[in-house]
Amino acid sequence: MISQEKALETIKGLGIRPKPEKADILDCLGCVLSEDIKAPQDIPAYDNSAMDGYAVRSDDLIGATPLKPVCLDLIEGDVSAGSEKKVRVSKGQCVSIMTGGKIPGGSDTVVMQEDTFGEKKRICFIKEIPKGCNTRKKGEDIKEGSVVLKAKKRISPADIGVMASLGYTSAPIYRRPLVGIISTGDELIEASEKLSAPKVRDSNSYSLAAQVIEAGARYKRYGIIKDDKTLLDRHIRQALEETDILLVSGGISVGKYDYIKDIISGIGAELLFWRVRQKPGKPLAVFKYKDKVVFALPGNPVSSMVCFYVYVASLISDLMGLKVPLYKTITAKAREEIRHKKGRTEFIRVVLEKKGPLNYISKTGPQGSGILTSLAGADGIAIVPEDFGDVPEGTELKVILIKEQK
Ligand code: AMP
Ligand code: MG
Repeated sequence: MISQEKALETIKGLGIRPKPEKADILDCLGCVLSEDIKAPQDIPAYDNSAMDGYAVRSDDLIGATPLKPVCLDLIEGDVSAGSEKKVRVSKGQCVSIMTGGKIPGGSDTVVMQEDTFGEKKRICFIKEIPKGCNTRKKGEDIKEGSVVLKAKKRISPADIGVMASLGYTSAPIYRRPLVGIISTGDELIEASEKLSAPKVRDSNSYSLAAQVIEAGARYKRYGIIKDDKTLLDRHIRQALEETDILLVSGGISVGKYDYIKDIISGIGAELLFWRVRQKPGKPLAVFKYKDKVVFALPGNPVSSMVCFYVYVASLISDLMGLKVPLYKTITAKAREEIRHKKGRTEFIRVVLEKKGPLNYISKTGPQGSGILTSLAGADGIAIVPEDFGDVPEGTELKVILIKEQK
């Protein structure tokens, strides 16, 4: 048995590198850029109007006041956004222009509609306007040749818009790992099936798939496999070939039908460790197979999810090239005494309460590893280190935040 810290270190130390690929920009949200994105052209690509109004030569408006307006000849037609009409504004002239319309030759400024009066052939202007006002200059947002988005940046919705505006439909990113999920156990039935003794609905493949989605990776569910060596061997082999990370839940304890460890080892995967001094999640086993990692997770619904938050999330985050952990860790004071047996790290499901700069935590309720609702009600997972005895009220603990904080 190894310590929780050593287990995490072992996974981190595997040195499995993120894999770069090109992906459709709409599939890139939350991914990390593997290369710089350079601008092949200026954005905007041409000077254009920031307002609906009139394009003028600002010099023509010198001296204009509400009492002594300057009136200009209105060129027929207007310059709408996208209009390719050739228009030239000469001294004493103006032309109607819409937001986004290309600034016509000869003009340099746009006056908003609200600062004018008159119609048809003559438009009057009631104030002077500095040159260039209400226009958007070529290249003012992005300069041709500049690095707009740096490698290692996590892609946001605005970044996707920036890439689209530059004509990129795909982007160089670190690939979202594909995570295979297998549930094992003779007692398991589908979520859609009628439940009666002695069966249990397979919730793990759902909660784990949801965690994979939340982590930004991709999942593939392989369904429920019975505790049958031949079936398990066949399905695990197939899943190992198809995925980057494999999660197998159940069958990893010391029960009579717990075959998973031997089967995965038999396929040729290297057992990195089996059993961790932690609660819940003690039976966890982790294997390396080529450049893939297999997590044999305990079947208890809370144990498998906690092992995901603590170990699998960390590997996914590394494979996606993220610099910060997927789940932030904070410190918080225990609201009540927490009973704890020395010699194993304990993960406690907690509710977080903020009081000014201080964070407080209290247990969500019974902590049995089959009580999934107590994880559903938790804001975080508090970590009681293995060398702690009972934790007195007021003790500061690290807490992995698993819910967005309001
Ligand atoms: P095991 O790790 O196979 O010994 O399973 C431990 C406990 O977790 C048993 O009570 C199982 O019924 C339960 N369990 C195992 N797999 C799942 C699953 N996929 N969904 C819900 N409960 C499960
Ligand atoms: Mg089982």
